[in-house]
Amino acid sequence: MAVPYFRLDLEKEEIDGVVRVLKSGWLTTGAECQGFEDEFGQALGGGVHAIAVNSNTSGMHLALEAAGIGPGDEVIVPDLTFTATAEVVRYLGAEVVFADVLKDTLCIDPEDVKRSITPRTKAIIPVHFGGMAADLEALQALAAEHNLRIIEDAAHSFPASLNGRPIGRHGTFATVFSFYANKTITTGEGGMIVTDNDAVADRCRVMRLHGIDRDAFHRFQGDSASWDYDIIAPGFKYNLPDLAAALGRGQLARAMTMQSRRQAVADTYRAGLADLPLELPPEAPEGDMHAWHLYPIRLTQGAPLSRAELEAALTTAQIGYSVHYTPLHRMTYWRERYGLSDNRFPVSTDYFGRCISLPIFSDMRIDEAEEVVATLQRILD
Ligand SMILES: *Cc1c(COP(=O)(O)O)cnc(C)c1O
Repeated sequence: MAVPYFRLDLEKEEIDGVVRVLKSGWLTTGAECQGFEDEFGQALGGGVHAIAVNSNTSGMHLALEAAGIGPGDEVIVPDLTFTATAEVVRYLGAEVVFADVLKDTLCIDPEDVKRSITPRTKAIIPVHFGGMAADLEALQALAAEHNLRIIEDAAHSFPASLNGRPIGRHGTFATVFSFYANKTITTGEGGMIVTDNDAVADRCRVMRLHGIDRDAFHRFQGDSASWDYDIIAPGFKYNLPDLAAALGRGQLARAMTMQSRRQAVADTYRAGLADLPLELPPEAPEGDMHAWHLYPIRLTQGAPLSRAELEAALTTAQIGYSVHYTPLHRMTYWRERYGLSDNRFPVSTDYFGRCISLPIFSDMRIDEAEEVVATLQRILD
């Protein structure tokens, strides 16, 4: 039986939601988007700002802009992530400083962050890798000591929790989720900035739509024509259309069920792969939630085959897989700009040589997970 790496999980409520918007006569940002923001904030416990944007990348750009990051500043980012985490720093003319990750969680190593701090450091962008929470406590201690902002790249981590609180509720400068097509919940393209800081929320709201000052807009609406508004900055075009928001509301309503189905796949993998020459990703600690966007495994050092041989065997068996990620220090732009090499990043380099991401998605059936397990048992025994 062939098992794909990913399959979309869409139900009637999402499709009905999009049709509702199509029939409403209003396609761009409006009431659906407002509803999605309200419901997303509620899902994180309420009493927090949720600002919908058209991607996680644009959300992180807005959060860094709100933090006042600019030329001459440095922002510390993990080496093992998607390039979006780092590129947003360059959008603002600031410099990226890459740090290595921890061997077990694959999230940024606070000790390496500490060593990377200079007088120019202004922010840290941890990634909750694969849906496993980064060590925010250690990072927040460093941030407090050195007056740094933390902007969480939560592209993989809805819904996830750490120390009993959801990701998005740890009091950092901002947390940014992704609703890209293959993320844990999707709007096709989309993202959400979450913050409990009123000023940060106001700045992100203004800058996501051309720098239009909504307060000025509303203030004048009563007294003058509705064409009248003010522009307070050269903003961006980062708003989320209602079509996408309607899809997001349907997905959000099912997010916990979808997580439990990915958890069941992870449980099947843990039980079935434990005796093979593989290193499996850690579970979230007791009482916390792993979002399970990825299931990254590593061949052990003494494994009977290489990553390339494992890939060939999986391809023959028609089992989908991926690799997350080629470390950014290996990418031409980042390597050349900062003169980076493998020996600066021993953990991500070693991980990259031995890793494979197995299929894990909410529409995956347990018999499909069992097929992946049986195939790996056959290949590796
Ligand atoms: C997907 C992803 C992003 C970008 O998300 P978009 O919504 O596509 O902009 C950023 N960081 C990480 C770690 C990702 O996996």
